Amino acid sequence: MAIDPVCGMEVDPKAAQFKSLYKGKVYYFCSRHCKEAFDKDPEYYLTHGPVGMPHHGGTPDRR
Ligand SMILES: [Zn+2]
Repeated sequence: MAIDPVCGMEVDPKAAQFKSLYKGKVYYFCSRHCKEAFDKDPEYYLTHGPVGMPHHGGTPDRR
């Protein structure tokens, strides 16, 4: 399993539709949203690690 560097979700590289090549390494993403975020600022995610995007996890009715 690969880890989506943006949100920290596990992504199956064989099934991944969203990936980016950065500095010779391939990164996999759970969604286009995560890929676009990574493409915009790859260093941020590689430096800080997954930040947990609000569109993942948690229940919608959590207040
Ligand atoms: Zn993601």
